[in-house]
Amino acid sequence: MQVDYLIIGQGICGTFLSYELQKAGKKVLVIDEAQPFSSTKVASGVINPVTGRQVVTTWMAEELMPFTWNAYTSIGLEIQQQVIQNCPIQAFPPSEQMLEAYEQKMNNQPSFIQPIAANDIIDYHTYFYFNHGAVAISPAWLVDLHALLKGWRQKLEETSALLEESFDATQLQIHATGITYKNIQAEKVFFCNGVNTFQHPLWEKLPYSFNKGEALIVDIPDLPQNHIYKFGITTLVPWYDGLWWAGSTYDNRYTDALPTDLFRQRKTAELGMLLKGKFTVVDHIASIRPATVERRPFAGLHPTQPAAGILNGMGTKGCSLAPYFAHQLAQHLVNGQPITPAGDVRRFSATLSL
Ligand SMILES: Cc1cc2nc3c(=O)[nH]c(=O)nc-3n(C[C@H](O)[C@H](O)[C@H](O)COP(=O)(O)OP(=O)(O)OC[C@H]3O[C@@H](n4cnc5c(N)ncnc54)[C@H](O)[C@@H]3O)c2cc1C
Repeated sequence: MQVDYLIIGQGICGTFLSYELQKAGKKVLVIDEAQPFSSTKVASGVINPVTGRQVVTTWMAEELMPFTWNAYTSIGLEIQQQVIQNCPIQAFPPSEQMLEAYEQKMNNQPSFIQPIAANDIIDYHTYFYFNHGAVAISPAWLVDLHALLKGWRQKLEETSALLEESFDATQLQIHATGITYKNIQAEKVFFCNGVNTFQHPLWEKLPYSFNKGEALIVDIPDLPQNHIYKFGITTLVPWYDGLWWAGSTYDNRYTDALPTDLFRQRKTAELGMLLKGKFTVVDHIASIRPATVERRPFAGLHPTQPAAGILNGMGTKGCSLAPYFAHQLAQHLVNGQPITPAGDVRRFSATLSL
């Protein structure tokens, strides 16, 4: 079997890379073993233009916000589903200092922080315990990752572009002008298989720094699902079937990828202190984020083995960075356009050439 590009993994990276390459007229084959708790399947799907306690504008947010809206709308048309929606974040600062940090950012141009009407703040006292006011982070997008992965997988199946199996690295041969994998020949192979990518000798030297994230899936009757609610380290995000995703953690000292009793107990106790009404924990999920030391992705071709490429290292921002860098990588392959240097894996040429 001959294809232009072989892609390993159909998380958010493999989904957008295969979409972009097919759109450019290329023949792709995606290998994916459908792991139930991949990072993309556990993620809440939020695209938040601000980050952290200092309320800093997220890297490239002004470019990424419109780009990602258009990217998800376009792929949504392909699979005939609306996979992105505007879902402002209502942030309840845990301290006066944090409220001040938000308020200072309201004067930025453009500002992603807006005041919330006094009446709406009063209404929120029906649902939540909070003492330091509330502000809105807007615009913020919410992506339906499960619908996207499922819809795109179906599309790949329909075009005979999906191989549902575990990738066997011993079967991959990389030559100067192409690759072979079992009976498949391709011009290039792309590693989009999340944390597993870094087990391969080609990429093991890259400065990755994984972290584990957990979330509870919670039933909170009557809480309106038109916003994301953020309370310090706890975020409540509309999930499926009227449920809520409550997370998360950024743990780089984990021993395995499984949900922990400690998280379940702590998050349940926190929710008890935040929510005025009854709630029920119905599930508990966890995964490992393929994050990097620099918090910048790895996109592009290997410096000494250019028949191999990578789209990975999206960390906590896969929903916004993956579509953007998938587009850049496809344009790089098809039209020779450059990749943003801070995301181009060739910034590690020296390390990868050792
Ligand atoms: C708790 C949590 C919450 C998060 N929330 C957000 C959020 O709100 N917004 C945001 O932007 N990001 C969020 N993230 C981060 C985001 O999920 C990741 O950046 C992104 O999903 C990484 O996508 P990926 O395609 O690189 O990897 P993955 O999603 O891990 O995909 C890898 C794919 O490769 C396949 N695969 C792996 N190994 C093999 C193999 N050997 N053979 C065949 N197939 C294989 C897997 O089945 C999988 O489909 C969150 C992450 C976690 C853990």
